[in-house]
Amino acid sequence: MNRLILIKYGELTTKKGNRKFFIQTLEKNIRSILKKFNFEIEYDYVRMYIKCDENELEEIVKALQKVFGIHGIVICHKVNNKDEIFDIALKLLRESNAQTFKVETNRADKQFPIPSMEFSRQLGGYLLKNLNVKVDVHHPDQIVKVEIRREGNFVYLKELPGIGGYPVGIQGKGILMLSGGIDSPVAGYLALKRGVDIECLYFESPPHTSVEAKNKVLTLASILNEYSGHIKVHVIPFTKLQEEIYKKVDSEYVITVMRRMMYRIAEKVAHERKAKIIINGESIGQVASQTLSSMSVINAVTNMPVIRPVACMDKLEIISLAEKIGTYTTSILPYEDCCTIFLPKHPVIHPNLEKVLNFEKNFDFESLVDECVQNKETIINFENNEFDDLL
Ligand code: ATP
Ligand code: MG
Repeated sequence: MNRLILIKYGELTTKKGNRKFFIQTLEKNIRSILKKFNFEIEYDYVRMYIKCDENELEEIVKALQKVFGIHGIVICHKVNNKDEIFDIALKLLRESNAQTFKVETNRADKQFPIPSMEFSRQLGGYLLKNLNVKVDVHHPDQIVKVEIRREGNFVYLKELPGIGGYPVGIQGKGILMLSGGIDSPVAGYLALKRGVDIECLYFESPPHTSVEAKNKVLTLASILNEYSGHIKVHVIPFTKLQEEIYKKVDSEYVITVMRRMMYRIAEKVAHERKAKIIINGESIGQVASQTLSSMSVINAVTNMPVIRPVACMDKLEIISLAEKIGTYTTSILPYEDCCTIFLPKHPVIHPNLEKVLNFEKNFDFESLVDECVQNKETIINFENNEFDDLL
């Protein structure tokens, strides 16, 4: 049997140059997500074909269902001539146990002597003669698809849906503020989906936050890696700066100032890593630091675009997406984040920028911010969720 995987591209930008870049980026991403498998890729402007070992085919298809930029995935049979098309179509339809069917033929190779309609009619007749099935053109149990192309003839039944979106990287890079919560991994997924490559930034405050809390974030990153193939996490040692904030700022303002520091650090790391935007999991109104007043005071420290993919989603919508992408069960593990330790009783809901600036004059935050950036630890190997067993 000569099975191979045929990939149909997702949302393509129409300009010729973009199309080439889109497909090349998709190929690069597929190679990186499938790196543990044996396979070969061929492609043209319409399709991509992946040849692989028969016994790895199902697993590869599963991995491909997480690659952005893929619209449809088809496990198809490549055959040489009309007789072989008839044989394999009969075999596939028999194995599917369908009671009704229709044939759809697409003849891209006009040198093939039989027109599409006529070919569908002949093949349909052959299948009717050899199987106990009926034709149903409106709601068939199965559609037998035949594609006649110069490079070969392809026969297949159903097409599996791809995940859509743009290939990761075609939009450049963003820095994702990744905490152990529910929202930020979903935000990261949504940014990846639109073609934004991400590097993650995690603020840790040991000994106030535990190694389990950090491993939880790394596990979340490894799940995002299934959609990216080359995730990095920069871990920022935040303790010193955070303790200083708690000493120098009134308790109701500590979260506001702390988040301004996070943004300052994120912006510096973004410049260093050649990222164009900051991405985070803020959602309007979710907590005191995410009211519109808080957001504007916090956002005032940077001119870099801050993209908040879940800003307008309800918590339940975010949760259902987290379940779908596989991050939810990890996100709900009960470890403290630096934002939840020493949480003030009454964090300010409408912070005053003047006041914030005065608090920030109380200490030399610039050098502490620089220290955080300089002392970051970068983790790059996220194959196979290896942090799972550390939890
Ligand atoms: P939850 O799902 O419980 O709301 P969260 O991760 O959204 O968790 P928030 O306190 O709402 O936590 O923080 C808002 C956003 O700020 C997060 O989505 C994340 O992008 C960023 N953030 C918070 N804490 C950290 C951290 N320790 N490291 C990196 N980013 C953080
Ligand atoms: Mg949140």
